[in-house]
Amino acid sequence: AKGQRLVSSPPKSLMKPLDVPNKLLMGPGPSNCPPRVLAAGALPMLGHLHPEFTKIMDEVKEGIQYAFQTKNEWTFAISGTGHAAMEASVANLLEPGDVALICQNGIWGQRLADMVERNGSVAQKIICAYGEVFTLDTIEKGLKEHKPSLVFVTFGESSAGTAQPLEGLGDLCHKYNALLLVDSVAILGGRPLFMDAWNIDVLYSGSQKVLGAPPATSPISFSQRARDKIASRKTKIRSYYFDANELANYWGCDKGPRRYHHTGMVTSVYALREGLARLAEEGLEKSWADHKACSELLYTGLEKLGLELLVKEPELRNPCVTTIKVPEGVNWKDVTDYAMKNYRVEIAGGLGDLAGKVWRIGIMGYNCRPENVNLVLKVLGEALESLRK
Ligand code: PMP
Repeated sequence: AKGQRLVSSPPKSLMKPLDVPNKLLMGPGPSNCPPRVLAAGALPMLGHLHPEFTKIMDEVKEGIQYAFQTKNEWTFAISGTGHAAMEASVANLLEPGDVALICQNGIWGQRLADMVERNGSVAQKIICAYGEVFTLDTIEKGLKEHKPSLVFVTFGESSAGTAQPLEGLGDLCHKYNALLLVDSVAILGGRPLFMDAWNIDVLYSGSQKVLGAPPATSPISFSQRARDKIASRKTKIRSYYFDANELANYWGCDKGPRRYHHTGMVTSVYALREGLARLAEEGLEKSWADHKACSELLYTGLEKLGLELLVKEPELRNPCVTTIKVPEGVNWKDVTDYAMKNYRVEIAGGLGDLAGKVWRIGIMGYNCRPENVNLVLKVLGEALESLRK
């Protein structure tokens, strides 16, 4: 336009080089990415329907099937972080008026319930304290009382630090004609998980935890039961972006030629591919064993420092996220600040009901190494010592 003046000049901040410090991320995620993952993210761009890229998508699918231990055809990655996979699950599995039974023992149940309501569906909750898990009996009572079409549990709770036992739960839900939806964002690769053997209907995870890829993509898989529910919907899926029928087509999970639905997250998919490849090369069993060993090293060290874990029963702890009670008289933030300022090590504070009351330490994927655990213990010990002085 003639005579039209720019209302702002190029920002000075953008004239300086990009500045990113190196930090050791020992919080609940994101975790540090292995060099091969970072390198993958810098590879040349491809078109989102180019054969070289759709081949990489197929490799990602196989990697997710392995990580989830499933043969489900509808297995792919959502473009978006864990919350996107949560929204996608709700949008596809629930129609307006449908009832979901939400097992809430931390913030993830709370958030999923919020999404259920925003979808026009009904969230019925059973609640237990952060640090505790649900028994099959409690869930069965909920199933009898609320007659939901969907049950939600968080396998690896990252606000509370628990690992919800899943064996028998899928069968129980199916007995009451409900589907089972499981969040494994903060635990996948850290502890045994068998989607098919445990009869889980929809399982989702995230890229930035054990898989060590940047936050961007979220693995998800749908059982035949879940697909039947989607196929028999009377109402349209409320989200265009998350419509699993469209996504399954784009990911080559149906017979049809792939259609453009949205532009796939090309370079983020390369990175996810490398995170999955690393897990495949190492093997799930080794990954599970390493997370177990490193988390036990952490528990022992914390006890030596006189610190108390929130989750009493070792079997019920999420090996990837440990919640530690902040001792009386200590300001949690002084400790996390000390770690960041002196060592560039991230330790996180609490979320939800536990804000101010716990620290959270993450042990995930590439960072799951004894030397990192020992460093965190040293830093914690020093920080507590310096505060006592
Ligand atoms: N579920 C769990 C258990 C999580 O730990 C997280 C991330 N902290 C999410 C869901 C949401 O993932 P995102 O932040 O990647 O959207």
